[in-house]
Formats: sequence, structure tokens, C-alpha cells
Amino acid sequence: TLVQTVQQLHVGLIGDPVAHSFSPRFQQPAFDALGIPAHYELWHTPAKQLVERIRSLCEPNCLGANVTIPHKEAVLPLIDKIDPLAARIGAINTIVHRDDYLYGYNTDAMGLLYALHEHGLGEMRQRKVSLRGHTAILLGAGGAARAAAFALVEAGIEQLIILNRHLERAQMLASDLLQYYDRPIFSLNDPSFLIPRTSSIIINATSVGLHEDISPLPPEILSHFDPDTFIYDMIYNPSQTYLLCQARLMGFETANGLSMLLHQGALAFTLWTNRSAPIEIMRQSLIL
Ligand code: NDP
Repeated sequence: TLVQTVQQLHVGLIGDPVAHSFSPRFQQPAFDALGIPAHYELWHTPAKQLVERIRSLCEPNCLGANVTIPHKEAVLPLIDKIDPLAARIGAINTIVHRDDYLYGYNTDAMGLLYALHEHGLGEMRQRKVSLRGHTAILLGAGGAARAAAFALVEAGIEQLIILNRHLERAQMLASDLLQYYDRPIFSLNDPSFLIPRTSSIIINATSVGLHEDISPLPPEILSHFDPDTFIYDMIYNPSQTYLLCQARLMGFETANGLSMLLHQGALAFTLWTNRSAPIEIMRQSLIL
């Protein structure tokens, strides 16, 4: 008899910790739906094991990996070819093993834009999101904020205001952006200097609201914004942060970070498999 062995493929999440990740929950059903014999695994990786872990991605049956806290920056020198946007951001969240090389990407950036577009913002042109005409207020200057900032300027945002507790970090991000883009970019550390503008998008990329009911933006500041302001919180667990609750009470449109998580994952799936991601299956698995 003819015995056909199906090659089991592997892909996984590299981070420390990884146990609470939502990624296997929606990546595995996507592989299963397309009949791809791949298993999405959690690869808990303390810093001292990072080099060895990245080397293991070159094994023949490995498709690549996702990378999360705290390794998104540290993996850069370990990757053969880095996508230009990921290089500018200075962080990689997706590694693809292809033809014996490791390629690095940052799908958080485009994932955020696809999420904003799904919430009715901007226009899609040739699979690129345009946010022309909008002003963005970005809360935070850490890893997630860097990806968001580069994505927003790539999307043609008119003006970017970066608000961060430590001003130097916001200024550093602004100066990194200004090396590549000629756009009005401001940095602040005091929300009372924010001037409300029309067509604003406020994005929380801080971890404020993750563990306690506190908001990164005082309600008296928020209340000055135009009714067409959109408030996006990258945090998805809790699903309604204090910021989102207050914004909704004031009548603003809001969304949490689940849509960004979904789209960064769908983009990574396509990079690993060269197939379009079964986005509705992924979405259903994520919200179940
Ligand atoms: P970082 O640790 O790199 O950055 C944290 C940011 O939060 C910094 O700007 C920091 O300001 C600010 N911050 C932290 N504590 C406080 C505080 N008490 N008061 C004011 N500001 C504070 O984290 P990441 O950028 O990796 O992640 C940020 C958030 O984004 C997390 O909640 C994460 O879960 C979420 N995220 C969501 C994703 C999604 O797909 N939805 C993807 C990636 C991240 P300072 O510089 O002054 O210290």
C-alpha cells in the first residue's frame, strides 16, 4: 500500500510570557480551515534562549514565528532580511522562514491601519489605507506606539501629535519619523496643551488602563474634542478600558484593540503561507 506522510509544519509565538496570548486561538483555526498541516505553538523564550530559538526557525518544517514582549527589538540583528518599514520602526513582530533565510516584518503597523479602515476611517487604495485629512493623537511612545506612528504617517495623516509621560521618548520618536517623512509632527507630555481639531483619531498605545481603571487622557480634555473624533484603544483585554467607557459616555465612536490583533495576525498568516487569510473564521474564533 502507498503510505503518504503529511509533513507537519510548525509556527509559533516567541516571547516571555506567552501563556496568555490570544494568537493560537485564531491562527490555528485559520490553518485548519485552509487544510494547511501547521500547528501554531507557544514558544516561551527567556532572553538568554533567544538566539537559539531564532536559529531553530531555520529547520525545514518551520514556517516562521510571531514575536512579542520583550523581544520585538532584540530580534532585529538575528534576522537575515528586514522589511524597510520594520527597519524604520525598529521592531519585528513576524518572522518568515523562506528559502533558508529569515525575513522580518512588522504587521502591527499595517494591522492598525486595516483595523481603523474596518471601523470606517480613511480610504482603501490598492490595498493601502489612506488617512489623508485626519489628525492623529497618539498616546504613548513605546514599541506599539512606534509601529502606530510609522503606520499613520505612511497612511498620509495630516498631522501627528505624540503625547507621552516621558517627553524625551516622544521627541525621539518624532525625530525618527522626521528622518523619513516631511509632515507636521509634535511631541507633548501634558495633555492640557492638546488643541482639539476636527477629524481627529485618538489612539491609546500606552499600557494605561490594562490593569486599573485609569485613563491616559483626562475626561475634561476629551470632552473638548469634536463629535466626529474616533477613539481607538490598542488594549483588548479588558475589552472596555476606562478611556473607552468615558469616550462612549460622551458619545464618541470607539473601538478596542481586538481588530488590530486580528489584522496583524491575518497579515502574518499571509506572509507565512502565501494564501489570503480566512479573516471571518479568524474573527469568529477570536470573539468566541
Ligand atoms: P511599552 O512598554 O513599549 O510602552 C508602554 C507605554 O505606556 C509607554 O509610552 C509608557 O510611557 C506608557 N505608560 C506606561 N505606564 C504609564 C503610566 N502609568 N502613565 C503614563 N504612561 C504610561 O509597551 P508596548 O508599546 O509594547 O504596548 C503598549 C500597549 O499596547 C499594551 O497595552 C499592549 O497590550 C498594547 N498592544 C496591543 C496590540 C494589539 O494588537 N492590539 C499590539 C501591541 C501592543 P513612558 O515612555 O513615559 O514610560
